[in-house]
Amino acid sequence: MASEGRKEKVIHTRIPAALEEQIKRLAEGLRVPVSNLVRNMLEDAIEMTRRMRDRVPAPHDPPTATMDLSGVFGWQEITLNIDAPCARCEKLLQGGDQAFLGLTDRSRDARVFICPECVPRPVKNDRRRKASM
Ligand SMILES: [Zn+2]
Repeated sequence: MASEGRKEKVIHTRIPAALEEQIKRLAEGLRVPVSNLVRNMLEDAIEMTRRMRDRVPAPHDPPTATMDLSGVFGWQEITLNIDAPCARCEKLLQGGDQAFLGLTDRSRDARVFICPECVPRPVKNDRRRKASM
């Protein structure tokens, strides 16, 4: 982008005196001219805005709290020794709570825990089946 002699323009903009003071102090601290600092800040802001804009329209991104459970092949009952949120309902599970650890083949997966209410139940009509475990 910086190639073939970039044309430079001057932008005038009104800013609060306090902001000017802040910018000047920051520039002094960094030992760069105010104009360089402002230019860099604008470039950074544009870059950040562009990155955010590129990221926002990704509706496939799951909400941060809901984890990908597709690789889990089983749930192992454990007693938690740490605090961890349920990967399904986000309820906070605490040390000592009964929880279920997601077992996966992919060792690089983050550990996932779910609470007893979120463990898949057999959909059969045999409700007493789990009692024998
Ligand atoms: Zn849960």
